[in-house]
Amino acid sequence: MDRSYSLTVTLCTALATAGQGRLLFSHQTSVPPPVTRPAPDTAKPSYGEVMGVRSRWIADLDAHPGDAPEIARSVLRWLVGAGVIVSERTDCVLGDVPGGYAPGPSCKTIVTGDPSGFPDVWPNGLEIDVGRSAFYGAVDEDDRVTCPRCGAWLPFEIVLTEVEEWLEGGPDSLVCARCGTRTGLNGWRWPVPCAFAELGLRFWNWPELTDAFVSDLGGRIGHRLVTGSFAT
Ligand SMILES: [Zn+2]
Repeated sequence: MDRSYSLTVTLCTALATAGQGRLLFSHQTSVPPPVTRPAPDTAKPSYGEVMGVRSRWIADLDAHPGDAPEIARSVLRWLVGAGVIVSERTDCVLGDVPGGYAPGPSCKTIVTGDPSGFPDVWPNGLEIDVGRSAFYGAVDEDDRVTCPRCGAWLPFEIVLTEVEEWLEGGPDSLVCARCGTRTGLNGWRWPVPCAFAELGLRFWNWPELTDAFVSDLGGRIGHRLVTGSFAT
C-alpha cells in the first residue's frame, strides 16, 4: 500500500508538473495540441505538424478594459480593408477564442523573409485577444526575471504563478523582496520579450512581421506595443 501510494503521488506530481509546463507556453487556458485538430483538406501534413507551431504576437501595453474592444474592432476593420486578413471568422487559430481571421490576398505585404509554406498551413489565422492575456517568448522555468530597481531576480516559474493570478483578476504588479519596490509585470526585465496586456494580436505561423507594419499599427493606436514570438 505504501508503495502504491508513493507511485500515485509521484504520478500526480508528474502530471501536475506537465500541466504547469504547458501553461508556460500558452495563455489563459491550456492549448490543445495541433494534431488533435481537424485535418486539412489534403493528406499533406500541416506546417504545424511538421515544423511545430509558432505565434508572432503584438501586445498593446496601454489598452484598458474599457477601450480594448473598440481598438480591436478598429484594427480588425483596418486589416480587413487592407486585405491582410479576411473578414469571416473561422477555426484557424489555437487560442481560447471563438475563432480567428485567415490570411487575406494582401497578407504578404506585412511580412518579411521567406514566405514558403505561407499561408497554406494550419493554424494560420490572426487571433485577437481582448481581455487580460499573457504573451510569452521562449522562457524556461528557471530563467531570471529581474527587478528594474535593484537587480534582484526571481525564476520565471515563480513569476508565472503571479501572472496566473493576474489573469484571474489579481494585481498587475510584483513587490521585489529585496528592495520592496512594487513594479508592474511589464516593468520587470524579462529574459526575452514578454507582455501582459488587455489587447494583443497573435499571428499563427505567419512569417516575421515587418517593422513598418508594427510601427504603422502603433501609430494608428497611439499606444506602446511590444512584439515577440513563441514556437512550440
Ligand atoms: Zn528590487
